[in-house]
Amino acid sequence: MNNNLPIFDGHNDALQSIYLPKNGNPRPFFKHTDQGHTDLPRMREGGYGGGFFAVFVPSGTPDDGFPGADAETGKAAYELPLPSAVEPAHAQSLTIKGVACLFRLEAQSKGQIKVIRTVGELRHCLQNQVIALVLHFEGAEAIDPELDALHVFYQAGLRSLGLAWSRPNRFAHGVPFRFPHSPDTGPGLSEAGRELVKTCNRLGILIDLAHINEKGFWDTAGLTAAPLVVTHAGVHALCPSTRNLTDKQLDALGESGGVIGINFHVGFLRPDGLLKADTPLSQIVRHIDYVAQRIGIEHVALGSDFDGAIMPLELGDAAGMPKLIQCLRDKGYDDEALRKVTHQNWVRVLGQTWKP
Ligand SMILES: [Zn+2]
Repeated sequence: MNNNLPIFDGHNDALQSIYLPKNGNPRPFFKHTDQGHTDLPRMREGGYGGGFFAVFVPSGTPDDGFPGADAETGKAAYELPLPSAVEPAHAQSLTIKGVACLFRLEAQSKGQIKVIRTVGELRHCLQNQVIALVLHFEGAEAIDPELDALHVFYQAGLRSLGLAWSRPNRFAHGVPFRFPHSPDTGPGLSEAGRELVKTCNRLGILIDLAHINEKGFWDTAGLTAAPLVVTHAGVHALCPSTRNLTDKQLDALGESGGVIGINFHVGFLRPDGLLKADTPLSQIVRHIDYVAQRIGIEHVALGSDFDGAIMPLELGDAAGMPKLIQCLRDKGYDDEALRKVTHQNWVRVLGQTWKP
């Protein structure tokens, strides 16, 4: 483990395998297993300092699998149907389960995990090898239009909110999974969505623009006082998926002082969009490089999507992160650049967004 370069990860879906167990058996988190991509021992092995842990409410519709072009047929273009909206009361009760699950892990961890609420806590954790986790909601379905739930969840520890997942809600519209396709797929923020952005600014909740459509991105950019943040996505010029950012979006993110966490999902990395795990790590490096060269190394970070996506085989799981760091080193990234990409950019943007 390299403590000089702790990994702070913009997106992880491991919580769902605990509060939404696939066959009734929650996955162990404190034991090293080969299930999924993340557990505490594998995070330690990978040199993790922490990251965003997502609470997510699935659409009721049958699971379509992971977004990407069919590797069997090699047929490049695809257009998955837009998942349906979820009922707010259902979203709220499931979200409470997700939040409780995170706090239970913290309580059971004997001081190894802390759910952080300030940047001071984050720095303290990184210096003391405590895994620092940010409570993040992937989509705002659990929030009522009066924003009562937002205030309650904020008091509980919510510090990052995705305005939308890839479906509509009362605040914003997420992108359907399409390739090749522009992220301009529908209307922008609703009036309630505009209020939500302003209230997040006031409270100091990070607004995550991953999954939102392009109009919603620009509406938020025109309103928010905080740097623009996309926790897990890629570069549209390299892989033209609706989930990736156009050059114009990247430029605006850079000008705002924001950060994009590069997503490792093979379908959002590869130029052909194929769902092929046999994808080299250099495909991740390509996206990091592009952002660093276009808008600066201060604006690119990691947003793995572990436990929510198909990872390059070479990387495997959270324990494989040193392989990615080595790849970046081989490409010429020095310690200073690597510190920024692995954690410092996240620390900076959280400092600019959260209240002390
Ligand atoms: Zn996601």
